[in-house]
Amino acid sequence: MSDIEIAQQANMRRIIDLAAEKFAIPAEHLDPYGHYKAKISLEYVNSLADKPDGKLILVTAVSPTPAGEGKTTTTVGLGDALNRLAKKTIICLREPSLGPCFGVKGGAAGGGYAQVVPMEDINLHFTGDFHAIGVAHNLLSALIDNHINHGNKLDIDPRRIQWKRVIDMNDRALRKIVVGQGGPANGYLREDGFDIVVASEVMAILCLATSRADLKERLGRIVIGYKSDKVTPVYASDLNAHGAMAAILKDAIKPNLVQTLENNLAIIHGGPFANIAHGCNTVTATQTALKLADYVVTEAGFGADLGAEKFLDIKCRMSGLKPSAVVVVATVRALKFHGGVGKDELNQENLAALEKGFANLERHLSNIQNHYGLPCVVSINHFSFDTDAEIQWLKSQCEALGAKCVIAKHWAYGGAGAEDLAREVLNIVDNREPGFNYVYDSELPLWNKIEAIATKLYGAAKVSASPKVVAEIKALQADYGQFPICMAKTHMSFSTNPNSKGAPSGHTVEISEVRLANGAGFIVAIAGDMMTMPGLPKVPAAERIDISDDGVISGLF
Ligand code: ADP
Ligand code: MG
Repeated sequence: MSDIEIAQQANMRRIIDLAAEKFAIPAEHLDPYGHYKAKISLEYVNSLADKPDGKLILVTAVSPTPAGEGKTTTTVGLGDALNRLAKKTIICLREPSLGPCFGVKGGAAGGGYAQVVPMEDINLHFTGDFHAIGVAHNLLSALIDNHINHGNKLDIDPRRIQWKRVIDMNDRALRKIVVGQGGPANGYLREDGFDIVVASEVMAILCLATSRADLKERLGRIVIGYKSDKVTPVYASDLNAHGAMAAILKDAIKPNLVQTLENNLAIIHGGPFANIAHGCNTVTATQTALKLADYVVTEAGFGADLGAEKFLDIKCRMSGLKPSAVVVVATVRALKFHGGVGKDELNQENLAALEKGFANLERHLSNIQNHYGLPCVVSINHFSFDTDAEIQWLKSQCEALGAKCVIAKHWAYGGAGAEDLAREVLNIVDNREPGFNYVYDSELPLWNKIEAIATKLYGAAKVSASPKVVAEIKALQADYGQFPICMAKTHMSFSTNPNSKGAPSGHTVEISEVRLANGAGFIVAIAGDMMTMPGLPKVPAAERIDISDDGVISGLF
């Protein structure tokens, strides 16, 4: 059965009943969106402030194949397994973006018997948060061009506007555009471009904001570009944009509550990609879950070099969150892929390739254990075509590295298939104080922070940049030197070359562009030719998606 067929057979409970029964969340603090989705009120979120925190478990992975290796599936499976072991657990996930839904990857609500539901809703619009984020972002874009049109009192240099427009779609044709065509009646002609919504600074801000006031403050701090003196920043607050932007986000700021196939609670809120943005669900969602539950399982996007790095160095640093353990999802197929096997032959046993590709997992494990000082459990996400020989080899190699390694079969069996994983995780988190080390210090200069990430985690020999980019980083150092770095890098490799598999080392990380995200509070460093607006593949998933006359959706996966 396909993911969507399994999801459509789910026995969903009314979310209001489930929330009351499991965590005594009062109905008046839930805004139901239909029967199976609800937003949690901020008043309720705030009322939890004095409660103690549960334990936080981060799910990350090896560098993935284009299909994804099962982090979301594992997060759901582990959460259901912990609940089966009578541990009060909530999972926290990101909201899917429409871009990859219609592109290569399909949906992002887990898979098999480890899914969050209602699957179609979660994948298609959900509670409208991304729409609101896009509109809030584009309102600021419109206000900028309107300001210039009406005399440009702020003296914005139209050639130095860094605030683009956004849409939640993979649409490469929009990467670079010209706006204001058609003469004086249509404003000023200038170069512009679109990013995907998940790369918007408004997305990052929503994910890091801790209150409505903080949200508005951060929106006001956004630097949209510079004045004609080239150096004076223009803020969103100079355009009086932040109030309206925060108003548009009035509901998007509230965490969304849904359930798993096994009727356990999941909070799904915020959704930046981990390759072009910071890759984690909202701080509000994670903190709310930690107040309600004894254990919280959350996912950070793509491989551990991206998602986990940003989760730890950006999200945890800014919010004070402290994970207790990390689950590293590995698949036999991804490691064979790193060992040089082509996409179409991953289903055949190949121990030589597995051995070669193991270097990728080894690097990720070493990064988390040695650089972050966090204990890991390797969770082998079992695929039906994995052979016993492959699984046994992988398990013994992980254990030789001092990491617990379990075979997880939640995709096939739901929470019951991940109980071994849950027990290993409990073994760690119940016996250690939460906490970890950052990979770089806030005091370190921006350039050195980029170097720390590239050399310590990516195995690079050095970082390089054009004189123009070096000068830009230098200019940012004075006022924004304390900011963490949000690397925009391919998720396919430790290097900036997506085709460089395994665990490359000695490479150069070329920084092609830097962007100030002053509202989010980080510097985006774009490594190589990374795009903040993806494109669709030759045969997009959209071609298979359909809806029947009676409203049943198919082709989402
Ligand atoms: P990630 O979060 O790491 O990107 P997902 O959990 O979204 O990965 O899984 C990616 C896809 O792989 C989903 O379509 C899911 O159904 C499928 N998948 C995950 N685990 C398995 C498995 N063990 N066997 C078969 N398909 C799987
Ligand atoms: Mg995922």
